[in-house]
Amino acid sequence: MIVTVPLGVLKAGVISFRPKLPPRKIQAINNIGVGVVEKVILSFDDPFWRLSKTQPRRVFYISDTQGEFPAFIDASDSAGRPVLVAFLTGEHVHLLETDAEAMVDRASQILKSIFGDKYRAPTSVHVTNWGTDPFSLGSYSTPTVGVTAKDYEQLAQPVGQRILFAGEARRRTENTPGSSKAPWDPESVRRGASWVARSTCN
Ligand SMILES: Cc1cc2nc3c(=O)[nH]c(=O)nc-3n(C[C@H](O)[C@H](O)[C@H](O)COP(=O)(O)OP(=O)(O)OC[C@H]3O[C@@H](n4cnc5c(N)ncnc54)[C@H](O)[C@@H]3O)c2cc1C
Repeated sequence: MIVTVPLGVLKAGVISFRPKLPPRKIQAINNIGVGVVEKVILSFDDPFWRLSKTQPRRVFYISDTQGEFPAFIDASDSAGRPVLVAFLTGEHVHLLETDAEAMVDRASQILKSIFGDKYRAPTSVHVTNWGTDPFSLGSYSTPTVGVTAKDYEQLAQPVGQRILFAGEARRRTENTPGSSKAPWDPESVRRGASWVARSTCN
C-alpha cells in the first residue's frame, strides 16, 4: 500500500493503522509542521490592473499586518477571462474561515486603494479552504523549531515492507516540499516503482 495523503491528514489521525505506526514515524509526523496559504480568486469584466490589454501584470501589496494579501497574481491568460488570484497567509487565513465576505471586501478595498478610479468590482469570487478541507488540512509542509533531517527521513520510510509513504512532505532536499514537484521527484518515483514491482512479484 502507498499512502499519499497530505501530512495534515496524517497529523489529524483520521486514518487508523493496524498495527499502529512505529513511535519514530509518529514523532516525525508530529514534528514536521503544516502551514496554511489560502487564495481569494476574483473574476472581473475588465482587467483594469493591466497597463496594456494583452500584458499580464502582478500586483504586490505591503500590508501593516503580515500575510494580508501580499500578492495578486494575474491569472487571466490561463483562466480565459480577467482574473486576479490573491494570496492570504498568517492569522488572516482564520478570518477567511470565519468571515469570507469581509476578507473578499478587504481584497477589493486594497485593489481600490491602489487603482482608484480604474478599479471595478469583481463579478464573481471563489475562496479556497485548504486549512479546513478534511482532504488537505493544510497547504504545505513546513519545518518547525526542532525538526531535523531525520524526521523527514523517517516520514519517507516504509513500514514493515508493506506500507510506503509518498507525497509533498516526504522529500526534504532541492526545495521540493511545498511544490507539486515533490510527489514526482525522480527518487520518490523510482523508489515507489521498484517497491511496488518487488511487492507484486513476491
Ligand atoms: C495555495 C497553494 C498553492 C500552490 N502553488 C504551487 C505552485 O505554484 N507550484 C507548485 O509546484 N506547487 C504548488 N503547490 C503545492 C502542490 O499543489 C502540492 O505540493 C502537491 O499538489 C502535493 O501533491 P501530493 O500528491 O503530495 O498531495 P495532494 O495533491 O494534496 O494529494 C493528496 C490526495 O489525498 C487525498 N486524501 C486526503 N485525505 C484522504 C483520506 N482520508 N482518504 C483518502 N484520500 C485522501 C486527497 O483527496 C488528494 O487527492 C501549491 C499548494 C497550495 C495549497
